[in-house]
Amino acid sequence: MIKDYNICSRCVMDTTADEIFFDKNNYCNFCSEVNDISTSKEDYLKIDNLVNDVQKNNSNSNYDCIVGLSGGVDSAWTLVKVKEYGLNPLAVHMDNGWNTELAQNNIENLVKILNVDLYTEVLDWNIYQSLMYSFFKSDVVDVELLYDNAMFAANFQQANKHNVKFILAGTNTSTEGVRIPSNWNWYKYDKKNIKSINRIFFNTSLKGYPLMGTYNYIYYRFIKKIKWIPFLDYINYNKKEAEKELEKKFNFKPYTHKHYESFFTKFYQGYILLKKFNIDKRKAHLSSLVISKQISRNQALEILKEDPIKKDELSEDINYFLKKMNWLKNDLDTYLSRPEVKHDYYQSERKIWNYFSSIYRYLK
Ligand SMILES: [Zn+2]
Repeated sequence: MIKDYNICSRCVMDTTADEIFFDKNNYCNFCSEVNDISTSKEDYLKIDNLVNDVQKNNSNSNYDCIVGLSGGVDSAWTLVKVKEYGLNPLAVHMDNGWNTELAQNNIENLVKILNVDLYTEVLDWNIYQSLMYSFFKSDVVDVELLYDNAMFAANFQQANKHNVKFILAGTNTSTEGVRIPSNWNWYKYDKKNIKSINRIFFNTSLKGYPLMGTYNYIYYRFIKKIKWIPFLDYINYNKKEAEKELEKKFNFKPYTHKHYESFFTKFYQGYILLKKFNIDKRKAHLSSLVISKQISRNQALEILKEDPIKKDELSEDINYFLKKMNWLKNDLDTYLSRPEVKHDYYQSERKIWNYFSSIYRYLK
């Protein structure tokens, strides 16, 4: 049954999210979940306790913690604050071949001025490009699973290598509070899904390529006791103010929208997701900002009226994408016109994950 279109009266989430439902005020479950979390948040997130914990656990390492650095505002601000709290982080950045020059410069300025060691995991472009071809052929929604999965692998591998127990990440509920609906992306530790899609289409050797599966996560989290911490939840984070200070002190150049530090992420979120899957991720990002009162709902609605990528910029972006992927316009159009195939049509470890998480919740 096709649901009638509806949009939440408090945030800007709508029926393009499969599992959305509305209460009698026409408020949706997505923003209601965030309100529930923020009211119970105060007492357990104590920054001083976290900093103590991090310092206590660094017994035989050069570093206190890992900070995953994408080049975006959230992770850049995390690094700034981590240093301010007197911690000694190793910044880990992943280069999948799609970083914008802007992001590259932002990262270089930041680590230089903060005097932080930077490890960059450079993914083999031939492998990465081949995996992208396979993901396009497979018609699954989450092409960014490739980046995210490798990014998790790189961060946990570095933490393990340096015997560090904390990965402090720029994830947070203040700008990311509204979760991404389950039909908009996929389970990020699904190594099996990536391998299965690769095997079916181009069968490229993945030797030496960083992949993260459910069992890898369990090993890192429960055997090696490495924790992934949404650091910005521990401090009072205001994105606008953070951006201003980054620009002033670190010569940071802003991006036009969240996650646009990578060219492909911009093109994927601003064009592919919208055209092929009728998904506008800005709805979740903007809803988070509305709920945390950083912008008004009307402002969010105005932003959504604009195309995510401006018309004149778009043709340039399409050309850049085609050139980098060795595609003709026709290849892109054919891809965009094919219907979606769900991730679990291919092999997947999502069920294993669900199984372990239900046991974990039960034991807790
Ligand atoms: Zn809502």
